[in-house]
Amino acid sequence: MFLGKLYSVSGRWEESVLQTDVKFPSANHDEHSIARLIAGQSELSLYVHIPYCTQKCGYCSFFSRPLPARNGYIDPGNPVISRILEEIHEAAVLFGKPFKTCYIGGGNPGLLNREILQEILAAASMHGRAGEISIESNPESLDASLIEFLADGKIDRLSLGVQSLSKKNLETIGRNFSDPEQIRNILAEYCLPGRTWELNIDLITGIPGQEDRETAKDMDEIIDSVSPDHLSIYELSIEPGTPLYLRYNAFPGGIHLEDLRDESGKNLRKIWKHAAAHGYKQYEISNFARRLTDLETDVFHTCRHNQTYWAMRPYLGIGPGAASTLYADGCAARIEALHDLSSYSEYRGGRGGRGGAFSQGYLIEDLTSLEFLQEKLIMGLRTSEGLVKSEFSRIFKLPIDVLLPQTFQKMLYKKYAVETEDTFSLTENGKILINTILVEMFLEIDRSIKLLPTGIDLTAVFEL
Ligand code: SF4
Repeated sequence: MFLGKLYSVSGRWEESVLQTDVKFPSANHDEHSIARLIAGQSELSLYVHIPYCTQKCGYCSFFSRPLPARNGYIDPGNPVISRILEEIHEAAVLFGKPFKTCYIGGGNPGLLNREILQEILAAASMHGRAGEISIESNPESLDASLIEFLADGKIDRLSLGVQSLSKKNLETIGRNFSDPEQIRNILAEYCLPGRTWELNIDLITGIPGQEDRETAKDMDEIIDSVSPDHLSIYELSIEPGTPLYLRYNAFPGGIHLEDLRDESGKNLRKIWKHAAAHGYKQYEISNFARRLTDLETDVFHTCRHNQTYWAMRPYLGIGPGAASTLYADGCAARIEALHDLSSYSEYRGGRGGRGGAFSQGYLIEDLTSLEFLQEKLIMGLRTSEGLVKSEFSRIFKLPIDVLLPQTFQKMLYKKYAVETEDTFSLTENGKILINTILVEMFLEIDRSIKLLPTGIDLTAVFEL
Protein backbone atom coordinates (compact mmCIF):
# COMPACT_ATOMS: atom_id res chain seq x y z
CA MET A 1 0.00 0.00 0.00
CA PHE A 2 1.17 3.49 -0.85
CA LEU A 3 2.34 5.60 2.06
CA GLY A 4 1.44 9.26 1.77
CA LYS A 5 4.45 11.55 1.79
CA LEU A 6 5.11 15.12 2.78
CA TYR A 7 7.38 17.43 0.89
CA SER A 8 9.29 19.37 3.54
CA VAL A 9 10.52 22.96 3.44
CA SER A 10 13.91 21.49 2.68
CA GLY A 11 12.53 20.13 -0.55
CA ARG A 12 12.70 16.43 0.25
CA TRP A 13 10.08 13.78 0.77
CA GLU A 14 9.11 12.73 4.25
CA GLU A 15 6.75 9.92 5.08
CA SER A 16 3.41 10.77 6.63
CA VAL A 17 1.03 8.37 8.23
CA LEU A 18 -1.88 8.64 5.83
CA GLN A 19 -2.94 5.56 3.95
CA THR A 20 -5.94 4.89 1.79
CA ASP A 21 -7.68 2.22 -0.23
CA VAL A 22 -9.65 4.63 -2.44
CA LYS A 23 -8.44 3.80 -5.95
CA PHE A 24 -8.60 5.34 -9.39
CA PRO A 25 -10.18 3.05 -11.93
CA SER A 26 -7.43 0.52 -12.68
CA ALA A 27 -5.50 0.95 -15.91
CA ASN A 28 -4.55 -2.78 -15.95
CA HIS A 29 -0.86 -2.17 -16.45
CA ASP A 30 1.19 -4.75 -18.33
CA GLU A 31 4.75 -4.83 -19.69
CA HIS A 32 3.75 -2.55 -22.57
CA SER A 33 1.99 0.02 -20.38
CA ILE A 34 4.84 2.51 -20.08
CA ALA A 35 5.37 2.60 -23.84
CA ARG A 36 1.62 3.12 -24.36
CA LEU A 37 1.50 5.84 -21.71
CA ILE A 38 4.45 7.72 -23.26
CA ALA A 39 2.85 7.55 -26.70
CA GLY A 40 -0.46 8.84 -25.32
CA GLN A 41 0.75 12.04 -23.59
CA SER A 42 -0.27 15.34 -25.16
CA GLU A 43 2.77 17.04 -23.58
CA LEU A 44 5.77 15.58 -21.77
CA SER A 45 8.81 16.79 -19.86
CA LEU A 46 11.90 14.59 -19.71
CA TYR A 47 14.12 14.03 -16.66
CA VAL A 48 17.38 12.11 -17.19
CA HIS A 49 19.00 10.76 -14.01
CA ILE A 50 22.78 10.20 -14.16
CA PRO A 51 23.39 8.03 -11.06
CA TYR A 52 27.11 8.64 -10.52
CA CYS A 53 29.19 10.93 -8.30
CA THR A 54 32.90 10.91 -7.46
CA GLN A 55 31.96 9.94 -3.92
CA LYS A 56 28.89 10.08 -1.74
CA CYS A 57 28.21 13.30 0.20
CA GLY A 58 27.42 12.81 3.89
CA TYR A 59 23.87 14.22 3.66
CA CYS A 60 22.88 12.66 0.33
CA SER A 61 19.79 10.48 0.07
CA PHE A 62 19.52 10.67 -3.73
CA PHE A 63 20.12 7.51 -5.70
CA SER A 64 23.75 7.71 -6.84
CA ARG A 65 26.86 5.54 -6.69
CA PRO A 66 30.61 6.26 -6.76
CA LEU A 67 31.97 6.70 -10.27
CA PRO A 68 33.65 4.08 -12.42
CA ALA A 69 35.69 6.93 -13.94
CA ARG A 70 38.17 7.18 -16.80
CA ASN A 71 40.06 10.50 -17.11
CA GLY A 72 37.52 12.18 -14.85
CA TYR A 73 34.49 11.19 -16.96
CA ILE A 74 32.17 8.21 -16.93
CA ASP A 75 33.46 5.49 -19.23
CA PRO A 76 31.60 5.93 -22.57
CA GLY A 77 30.93 2.17 -22.61
CA ASN A 78 29.17 2.26 -19.23
CA PRO A 79 26.14 -0.08 -19.57
CA VAL A 80 23.87 2.02 -17.32
CA ILE A 81 24.47 5.10 -19.45
CA SER A 82 23.93 2.96 -22.58
CA ARG A 83 20.50 1.90 -21.32
CA ILE A 84 19.66 5.50 -20.43
CA LEU A 85 20.51 6.50 -24.00
CA GLU A 86 18.39 3.68 -25.41
CA GLU A 87 15.44 4.72 -23.31
CA ILE A 88 15.70 8.39 -24.27
CA HIS A 89 15.82 7.32 -27.90
CA GLU A 90 12.82 5.03 -27.52
CA ALA A 91 10.85 7.62 -25.51
CA ALA A 92 11.43 10.21 -28.24
CA VAL A 93 10.23 7.73 -30.91
CA LEU A 94 7.14 6.83 -28.87
CA PHE A 95 6.23 10.40 -27.95
CA GLY A 96 6.86 11.65 -31.49
CA LYS A 97 6.95 15.35 -30.56
CA PRO A 98 9.48 17.70 -28.95
CA PHE A 99 9.66 17.34 -25.16
CA LYS A 100 8.33 20.35 -23.31
CA THR A 101 11.43 20.61 -21.10
CA CYS A 102 14.47 18.40 -20.52
CA TYR A 103 16.49 18.26 -17.29
CA ILE A 104 19.69 16.23 -16.93
CA GLY A 105 20.21 15.71 -13.19
CA GLY A 106 21.77 13.24 -10.81
CA GLY A 107 24.17 12.35 -9.32
CA ASN A 108 26.61 14.59 -11.08
CA PRO A 109 25.90 14.86 -14.83
CA GLY A 110 29.05 16.99 -15.13
CA LEU A 111 30.83 13.59 -15.16
CA LEU A 112 29.24 12.60 -18.47
CA ASN A 113 31.64 11.98 -21.29
CA ARG A 114 30.98 14.96 -23.62
CA GLU A 115 30.31 12.78 -26.66
CA ILE A 116 27.70 10.87 -24.66
CA LEU A 117 26.19 14.16 -23.50
CA GLN A 118 25.94 15.19 -27.14
CA GLU A 119 24.20 11.87 -27.93
CA ILE A 120 21.75 12.35 -25.05
CA LEU A 121 20.87 15.84 -26.31
CA ALA A 122 20.51 14.58 -29.88
CA ALA A 123 18.22 11.71 -28.81
CA ALA A 124 16.10 14.05 -26.65
CA SER A 125 15.80 16.47 -29.60
CA MET A 126 14.84 13.82 -32.20
CA HIS A 127 11.55 15.59 -32.98
CA GLY A 128 12.68 19.11 -32.12
CA ARG A 129 14.42 20.87 -29.28
CA ALA A 130 12.77 21.01 -25.86
CA GLY A 131 11.59 24.47 -24.80
CA GLU A 132 14.14 24.48 -21.95
CA ILE A 133 17.18 22.22 -21.45
CA SER A 134 18.97 22.18 -18.08
CA ILE A 135 21.95 20.32 -16.70
CA GLU A 136 23.25 19.96 -13.15
CA SER A 137 26.93 19.81 -12.33
CA ASN A 138 29.20 19.82 -9.35
CA PRO A 139 31.60 22.79 -9.50
CA GLU A 140 34.71 20.62 -9.95
CA SER A 141 33.23 19.02 -13.11
CA LEU A 142 32.66 22.36 -14.80
CA ASP A 143 35.17 22.85 -17.60
CA ALA A 144 35.46 24.58 -20.98
CA SER A 145 33.93 21.59 -22.77
CA LEU A 146 30.74 21.73 -20.67
CA ILE A 147 30.54 25.52 -21.04
CA GLU A 148 30.69 25.05 -24.84
CA PHE A 149 27.31 23.27 -24.75
CA LEU A 150 25.85 26.28 -22.96
CA ALA A 151 27.58 28.92 -25.07
CA ASP A 152 26.49 27.13 -28.28
CA GLY A 153 22.87 27.16 -27.10
CA LYS A 154 22.61 23.36 -26.88
CA ILE A 155 21.79 23.70 -23.17
CA ASP A 156 19.93 26.68 -21.66
CA ARG A 157 20.51 26.38 -17.91
CA LEU A 158 23.33 25.23 -15.68
CA SER A 159 22.53 24.33 -12.08
CA LEU A 160 25.72 24.36 -10.04
CA GLY A 161 25.83 22.62 -6.64
CA VAL A 162 27.92 25.10 -4.64
CA GLN A 163 26.06 24.47 -1.31
CA SER A 164 28.34 26.73 0.78
CA LEU A 165 31.45 28.88 0.50
CA SER A 166 32.65 27.88 3.96
CA LYS A 167 35.12 24.99 4.26
CA LYS A 168 33.86 24.31 7.77
CA ASN A 169 30.24 24.01 6.63
CA LEU A 170 31.09 21.90 3.57
CA GLU A 171 33.08 19.56 5.80
CA THR A 172 30.29 19.40 8.40
CA ILE A 173 27.83 18.06 5.82
CA GLY A 174 30.47 15.77 4.26
CA ARG A 175 30.29 17.44 0.83
CA ASN A 176 32.32 15.46 -1.70
CA PHE A 177 34.07 18.63 -2.88
CA SER A 178 34.86 21.02 -0.05
CA ASP A 179 37.39 23.54 -1.33
CA PRO A 180 35.76 27.02 -1.41
CA GLU A 181 38.82 28.61 -3.03
CA GLN A 182 38.53 26.26 -6.00
CA ILE A 183 34.78 26.91 -6.19
CA ARG A 184 35.51 30.66 -6.31
CA ASN A 185 38.08 30.15 -9.08
CA ILE A 186 35.69 27.98 -11.10
CA LEU A 187 32.91 30.57 -10.76
CA ALA A 188 35.29 33.34 -11.83
CA GLU A 189 36.59 31.34 -14.78
CA TYR A 190 33.32 30.08 -16.26
CA CYS A 191 30.28 31.86 -14.81
CA LEU A 192 30.92 35.61 -14.97
CA PRO A 193 28.07 37.96 -15.96
CA GLY A 194 27.71 38.47 -19.70
CA ARG A 195 27.04 34.76 -20.29
CA THR A 196 24.33 33.86 -22.80
CA TRP A 197 22.85 31.06 -20.68
CA GLU A 198 21.05 30.87 -17.33
CA LEU A 199 22.88 30.06 -14.12
CA ASN A 200 21.37 28.57 -10.98
CA ILE A 201 23.37 28.19 -7.78
CA ASP A 202 22.31 25.65 -5.13
CA LEU A 203 22.98 26.57 -1.51
CA ILE A 204 22.25 24.68 1.71
CA THR A 205 21.27 26.42 4.92
CA GLY A 206 20.54 25.16 8.45
CA ILE A 207 23.87 23.31 8.69
CA PRO A 208 24.73 22.40 12.32
CA GLY A 209 27.14 25.03 13.63
CA GLN A 210 26.41 27.42 10.75
CA GLU A 211 25.67 30.94 11.93
CA ASP A 212 22.50 32.63 10.66
CA ARG A 213 24.37 35.25 8.69
CA GLU A 214 26.60 32.77 6.87
CA THR A 215 24.12 31.83 4.13
CA ALA A 216 23.40 35.52 3.51
CA LYS A 217 27.16 36.11 3.31
CA ASP A 218 27.50 33.30 0.74
CA MET A 219 24.60 34.80 -1.21
CA ASP A 220 26.23 38.25 -1.21
CA GLU A 221 29.52 36.88 -2.46
CA ILE A 222 27.91 34.78 -5.19
CA ILE A 223 25.61 37.60 -6.33
CA ASP A 224 28.53 40.08 -6.39
CA SER A 225 30.76 37.74 -8.36
CA VAL A 226 28.48 35.97 -10.87
CA SER A 227 25.01 37.49 -10.43
CA PRO A 228 23.14 34.17 -10.93
CA ASP A 229 19.76 34.23 -12.65
CA HIS A 230 18.34 31.80 -10.12
CA LEU A 231 19.05 30.60 -6.58
CA SER A 232 17.88 27.36 -4.96
CA ILE A 233 18.29 27.54 -1.20
CA TYR A 234 17.48 24.31 0.62
CA GLU A 235 17.32 23.71 4.33
CA LEU A 236 19.58 20.81 5.31
CA SER A 237 17.62 17.65 5.84
CA ILE A 238 19.34 14.87 7.79
CA GLU A 239 17.83 11.75 6.29
CA PRO A 240 17.90 8.34 7.99
CA GLY A 241 20.51 6.05 6.44
CA THR A 242 22.88 8.83 5.40
CA PRO A 243 26.40 9.09 6.90
CA LEU A 244 25.41 12.46 8.42
CA TYR A 245 22.44 10.88 10.19
CA LEU A 246 24.63 8.08 11.52
CA ARG A 247 27.25 10.61 12.69
CA TYR A 248 24.71 12.63 14.70
CA ASN A 249 23.14 9.55 16.16
CA ALA A 250 26.54 8.27 17.28
CA PHE A 251 26.54 10.92 20.04
CA PRO A 252 25.65 9.45 23.44
CA GLY A 253 21.85 9.55 23.55
CA GLY A 254 21.74 10.68 19.92
CA ILE A 255 20.77 14.09 18.68
CA HIS A 256 17.14 14.51 17.77
CA LEU A 257 16.66 16.10 14.38
CA GLU A 258 14.29 18.61 15.98
CA ASP A 259 17.21 19.90 18.07
CA LEU A 260 18.89 21.01 14.86
CA ARG A 261 15.86 22.73 13.39
CA ASP A 262 15.13 26.38 13.63
CA GLU A 263 11.44 26.05 14.42
CA SER A 264 10.75 29.78 14.43
CA GLY A 265 12.08 29.94 10.89
CA LYS A 266 14.28 32.91 11.90
CA ASN A 267 17.10 31.82 9.62
CA LEU A 268 14.82 31.11 6.65
CA ARG A 269 12.99 34.42 7.04
CA LYS A 270 16.31 36.29 6.97
CA ILE A 271 17.43 34.44 3.86
CA TRP A 272 14.14 34.98 2.03
CA LYS A 273 14.28 38.68 2.89
CA HIS A 274 17.87 38.87 1.73
CA ALA A 275 17.00 37.26 -1.62
CA ALA A 276 14.13 39.73 -2.11
CA ALA A 277 16.42 42.66 -1.29
CA HIS A 278 18.70 41.49 -4.10
CA GLY A 279 15.77 41.41 -6.55
CA TYR A 280 15.06 37.66 -6.49
CA LYS A 281 11.42 36.61 -6.48
CA GLN A 282 10.56 33.62 -4.31
CA TYR A 283 8.33 31.69 -6.70
CA GLU A 284 8.57 28.45 -4.71
CA ILE A 285 9.59 27.86 -1.09
CA SER A 286 13.22 27.04 -1.95
CA ASN A 287 13.54 28.74 -5.35
CA PHE A 288 14.24 32.34 -6.29
CA ALA A 289 14.44 33.93 -9.76
CA ARG A 290 15.60 37.28 -11.06
CA ARG A 291 13.66 39.32 -13.61
CA LEU A 292 14.47 38.44 -17.21
CA THR A 293 15.70 41.96 -17.90
CA ASP A 294 16.26 45.02 -15.74
CA LEU A 295 13.06 46.48 -17.17
CA GLU A 296 9.84 46.25 -15.21
CA THR A 297 8.44 42.95 -16.43
CA ASP A 298 6.71 40.01 -14.89
CA VAL A 299 8.91 37.47 -16.62
CA PHE A 300 11.49 35.78 -14.39
CA HIS A 301 14.30 33.26 -14.88
CA THR A 302 12.18 30.49 -13.35
CA CYS A 303 12.97 26.83 -13.97
CA ARG A 304 10.18 25.71 -16.29
CA HIS A 305 11.07 22.06 -15.78
CA ASN A 306 10.56 22.22 -12.03
CA GLN A 307 7.35 24.20 -12.55
CA THR A 308 6.11 21.13 -14.44
CA TYR A 309 6.45 19.08 -11.24
CA TRP A 310 4.71 21.67 -9.08
CA ALA A 311 1.83 21.94 -11.57
CA MET A 312 1.68 18.12 -11.66
CA ARG A 313 1.92 18.00 -15.42
CA PRO A 314 3.29 14.81 -17.05
CA TYR A 315 6.98 14.01 -16.88
CA LEU A 316 9.04 10.98 -17.77
CA GLY A 317 12.04 10.09 -15.59
CA ILE A 318 14.75 7.98 -17.22
CA GLY A 319 17.65 6.39 -15.33
CA PRO A 320 17.90 4.18 -12.22
CA GLY A 321 15.73 5.46 -9.40
CA ALA A 322 13.98 8.08 -11.55
CA ALA A 323 10.22 8.59 -11.12
CA SER A 324 7.58 9.54 -13.69
CA THR A 325 3.97 10.70 -13.60
CA LEU A 326 1.97 9.97 -16.74
CA TYR A 327 -1.75 10.30 -17.45
CA ALA A 328 -4.18 8.13 -19.42
CA ASP A 329 -7.87 7.21 -19.35
CA GLY A 330 -8.63 9.33 -16.29
CA CYS A 331 -5.73 7.76 -14.34
CA ALA A 332 -2.44 9.15 -13.09
CA ALA A 333 0.29 6.51 -13.14
CA ARG A 334 3.36 6.81 -10.92
CA ILE A 335 6.34 4.89 -12.32
CA GLU A 336 9.68 4.28 -10.67
CA ALA A 337 12.79 2.77 -12.26
CA LEU A 338 14.83 0.23 -10.27
CA HIS A 339 17.21 1.59 -7.63
CA ASP A 340 19.86 -0.88 -8.73
CA LEU A 341 22.53 -0.23 -11.35
CA SER A 342 23.29 -3.80 -12.39
CA SER A 343 19.62 -4.84 -12.77
CA TYR A 344 18.87 -1.61 -14.58
CA SER A 345 21.60 -2.23 -17.15
CA GLU A 346 20.75 -5.96 -17.44
CA TYR A 347 17.24 -5.13 -18.59
CA ARG A 348 18.45 -3.42 -21.74
CA GLY A 349 15.70 -3.99 -24.29
CA GLY A 350 17.38 -1.97 -26.97
CA ARG A 351 15.87 -0.14 -29.88
CA GLY A 352 13.40 -2.56 -31.39
CA GLY A 353 14.34 -5.19 -28.76
CA ARG A 354 11.70 -7.62 -27.48
CA GLY A 355 9.10 -5.62 -25.55
CA GLY A 356 11.12 -2.41 -25.92
CA ALA A 357 13.40 -0.61 -23.48
CA PHE A 358 10.59 0.17 -21.00
CA SER A 359 9.25 -3.36 -20.66
CA GLN A 360 11.22 -4.39 -17.54
CA GLY A 361 12.74 -2.88 -14.43
CA TYR A 362 9.92 -0.52 -13.44
CA LEU A 363 7.33 -0.34 -10.69
CA ILE A 364 4.06 1.15 -11.86
CA GLU A 365 0.92 1.95 -9.88
CA ASP A 366 -2.05 4.24 -10.28
CA LEU A 367 -2.30 7.10 -7.84
CA THR A 368 -5.47 7.07 -5.79
CA SER A 369 -7.75 10.12 -5.63
CA LEU A 370 -6.46 10.78 -2.13
CA GLU A 371 -2.80 10.49 -3.14
CA PHE A 372 -3.41 12.86 -6.04
CA LEU A 373 -5.15 15.32 -3.70
CA GLN A 374 -2.27 15.13 -1.18
CA GLU A 375 0.30 15.80 -3.90
CA LYS A 376 -1.76 18.64 -5.32
CA LEU A 377 -1.84 20.31 -1.88
CA ILE A 378 1.87 19.68 -1.26
CA MET A 379 3.00 20.94 -4.65
CA GLY A 380 0.53 23.81 -4.98
CA LEU A 381 1.14 25.28 -1.54
CA ARG A 382 4.91 25.37 -2.12
CA THR A 383 4.47 27.86 -4.97
CA SER A 384 3.93 31.59 -4.53
CA GLU A 385 0.84 31.43 -6.75
CA GLY A 386 -0.61 28.70 -4.52
CA LEU A 387 -3.61 26.58 -5.43
CA VAL A 388 -5.84 27.71 -8.26
CA LYS A 389 -9.32 27.34 -6.81
CA SER A 390 -11.17 26.85 -10.12
CA GLU A 391 -8.70 24.13 -11.20
CA PHE A 392 -9.00 22.45 -7.79
CA SER A 393 -12.82 22.42 -8.03
CA ARG A 394 -12.70 20.97 -11.54
CA ILE A 395 -10.29 18.17 -10.60
CA PHE A 396 -11.83 17.15 -7.29
CA LYS A 397 -15.42 18.11 -8.15
CA LEU A 398 -15.60 20.11 -4.91
CA PRO A 399 -14.31 23.58 -3.96
CA ILE A 400 -11.36 23.53 -1.56
CA ASP A 401 -13.34 25.35 1.15
CA VAL A 402 -15.98 22.59 1.03
CA LEU A 403 -13.45 19.76 1.12
CA LEU A 404 -11.31 21.43 3.80
CA PRO A 405 -13.67 23.88 5.57
CA GLN A 406 -11.84 23.97 8.92
CA THR A 407 -8.23 24.26 7.81
CA PHE A 408 -9.16 26.62 4.96
CA GLN A 409 -10.81 29.10 7.37
CA LYS A 410 -8.21 28.61 10.11
CA MET A 411 -5.31 29.32 7.71
CA LEU A 412 -6.97 32.55 6.58
CA TYR A 413 -7.90 33.61 10.12
CA LYS A 414 -4.37 32.99 11.44
CA LYS A 415 -2.91 34.74 8.39
CA TYR A 416 -1.01 31.64 7.35
CA ALA A 417 -2.74 31.93 3.96
CA VAL A 418 -4.35 34.53 1.75
CA GLU A 419 -6.92 34.14 -0.98
CA THR A 420 -7.81 36.02 -4.12
CA GLU A 421 -10.83 35.36 -6.27
CA ASP A 422 -9.14 32.29 -7.78
CA THR A 423 -6.08 31.43 -5.64
CA PHE A 424 -5.24 30.22 -2.13
CA SER A 425 -1.59 30.63 -1.15
CA LEU A 426 0.60 30.58 1.95
CA THR A 427 1.99 33.73 3.55
CA GLU A 428 5.55 33.82 4.90
CA ASN A 429 4.35 32.47 8.27
CA GLY A 430 2.44 29.77 6.44
CA LYS A 431 5.49 28.74 4.41
CA ILE A 432 7.51 28.32 7.60
CA LEU A 433 4.77 26.07 8.97
CA ILE A 434 3.95 24.24 5.73
CA ASN A 435 4.51 20.74 7.12
CA THR A 436 2.22 21.35 10.10
CA ILE A 437 -0.40 22.91 7.83
CA LEU A 438 -0.29 19.95 5.44
CA VAL A 439 -0.67 17.45 8.29
CA GLU A 440 -3.72 19.39 9.56
CA MET A 441 -5.17 19.38 6.06
CA PHE A 442 -4.55 15.66 5.63
CA LEU A 443 -6.17 14.88 8.98
CA GLU A 444 -9.23 16.90 7.98
CA ILE A 445 -9.37 15.06 4.65
CA ASP A 446 -9.22 11.79 6.61
CA ARG A 447 -12.38 12.90 8.41
CA SER A 448 -14.16 13.95 5.21
CA ILE A 449 -12.77 11.16 3.01
CA LYS A 450 -16.26 10.11 1.95
CA LEU A 451 -16.69 13.45 0.17
CA LEU A 452 -13.76 12.71 -2.12
CA PRO A 453 -14.89 11.30 -5.47
CA THR A 454 -13.05 8.21 -6.68
CA GLY A 455 -13.15 9.33 -10.31
CA ILE A 456 -11.59 12.77 -10.33
CA ASP A 457 -11.31 14.91 -13.47
CA LEU A 458 -7.68 15.07 -14.56
CA THR A 459 -8.36 17.01 -17.76
CA ALA A 460 -8.30 20.22 -15.71
CA VAL A 461 -4.58 19.65 -15.00
CA PHE A 462 -3.88 20.46 -18.65
CA GLU A 463 -6.08 23.50 -19.03
CA LEU A 464 -4.08 26.17 -17.22
S1 SF4 B 1 26.97 15.28 -5.60
FE1 SF4 B 1 24.74 15.39 -5.22
S2 SF4 B 1 23.91 13.39 -5.81
FE2 SF4 B 1 26.17 13.18 -5.62
S3 SF4 B 1 26.50 12.41 -3.55
FE3 SF4 B 1 26.67 14.66 -3.47
S4 SF4 B 1 24.57 15.39 -2.99
FE4 SF4 B 1 24.41 13.23 -3.65
